[in-house]
Amino acid sequence: MDIINPATEELITKIAEDDWQSVKEKFDRLKKNQPAWGALPVDKRIQCISRFHTLLDEEKDELAKTLTSEMGKPLKQSYNELNGARSRVEFFIRNSAKWLAEEWINTEGATKEKIAYEPLGVIANISAWNYPYLVGMNVIIPALIGGNAVLYKPSEYATLTGMHIARLLYGSGIPENCFQLIIGKAAAGENLLQLPLDGYFFTGSYKTGRHIAEKIASKLVPFQLELGGKDPLYVMDDIDDIDKAAATALEGVVYNNGQSCCAVERIYVHKKIYDEFIASYVKQLKQLRLGDPADQSTEIGPLTRKEQVKFLLDQISDATSKGAIVLSGGKKPDRRGFFIEPTVLVNVNHEMKLMKEESFGPIVGIQPVEDDEEAIALMSDTEYGLTAAVYSKNYDRAESLMKRINTGTVYWNCCDRVSAALPWSGRKHSGLGTTLSYQGIRAFVQPKSYHIREICE
Ligand code: NAD
Repeated sequence: MDIINPATEELITKIAEDDWQSVKEKFDRLKKNQPAWGALPVDKRIQCISRFHTLLDEEKDELAKTLTSEMGKPLKQSYNELNGARSRVEFFIRNSAKWLAEEWINTEGATKEKIAYEPLGVIANISAWNYPYLVGMNVIIPALIGGNAVLYKPSEYATLTGMHIARLLYGSGIPENCFQLIIGKAAAGENLLQLPLDGYFFTGSYKTGRHIAEKIASKLVPFQLELGGKDPLYVMDDIDDIDKAAATALEGVVYNNGQSCCAVERIYVHKKIYDEFIASYVKQLKQLRLGDPADQSTEIGPLTRKEQVKFLLDQISDATSKGAIVLSGGKKPDRRGFFIEPTVLVNVNHEMKLMKEESFGPIVGIQPVEDDEEAIALMSDTEYGLTAAVYSKNYDRAESLMKRINTGTVYWNCCDRVSAALPWSGRKHSGLGTTLSYQGIRAFVQPKSYHIREICE
């Protein structure tokens, strides 16, 4: 498998892919050894993860450089991702023992009752490339702490990062018999679907997620899907600082080159402040620095996948053919690499793919609305349900909209944000199940109910 630098289109290296035989061997090895790992006291497993947390910091320069080289993330954002990953790992270190401990439910009377939390067994984590450390940590860390063994398939666009994660886990004391990498593209993932695994945890597109769900349904094992989004942001007419609102909305659109599941993909603005918002947004967008992602000052690097450039240009031309106007960007810049200019379109509507299908790039359409009712109708006009943001001075007014939006996460005066302490869950085509928070610790264990009677009656 070729590993390509998306900024230069040069070959970084070639890596051998796993085939059925090697996938099966890795599974057999984990299956045999998982019970011993699961039987360790939880503190022992947490000790390993604490060392991993330290190594992530000690090796951050090398890790950030690799991430930027293989998926094009601007270097500064690669460091941000590593910091974010460390704080997620820290959340699990601090909170797992409490949520995995046995719970006494009833200690009175003849029959005592308690709940114990047991590992699922050997699970698969099939993952995406856009935030490999963040989405990887969401699954790998609580799964290992919970006593599971993990077959981790990083995306083919984040293979070197996956290899770093494995190396650091082993260096932290996680046994090779409990964690193995599966290297490759879709075919390697398909091999995992053939195995009798005890759980499947997927991060990626709706299309692949649905395929996986259909394929594994008859196994009747737990599975979770963290999928895509078409996340809206609505700016109400009462905000004080339009420049600030435009700045944070812009960051929500273009951060990570727009390749975030919770990126802002549609902006609705109350008609009273629409012109002012647009002027500010465009002015700030034109100041963004596009260039070599390895340069610390770069804000927009290349897209990770070559095909995505064409996909976005098609969305833009579909929109302009239906009347949209490009106010800035709209083209592939004249340079090597999978770049596209950050782009803003107006005169948009929901007949356009730009406003309905996931873009996953630094492009956005901005649409004026008459009032809050029109805003909520447009925000809700989507098959996805990951996040939605409302900007307003008035929390009550914003909350009345946030309550009516069918998404797993809502934001007041912020966007494109994930907290380790809160459940991360998509609705509708954005997924199934929850990672992060105490619920994302319990997602990797199964309850066992004990009915305990000292005397047989
Ligand atoms: P993808 O669906 O193309 O690939 C995801 C993973 O699935 C990769 O490892 C890939 O090799 C594997 N895969 C592909 N076909 C497979 C098959 N037939 N069987 C088994 N495995 C298979 O997605 P992607 O391009 O890597 O990621 C981008 C998508 O992920 C976007 O839609 C984004 O919104 C979503 N995402 C969601 C979240 C979230 O938390 N909700 C986080 C990050 C990314």
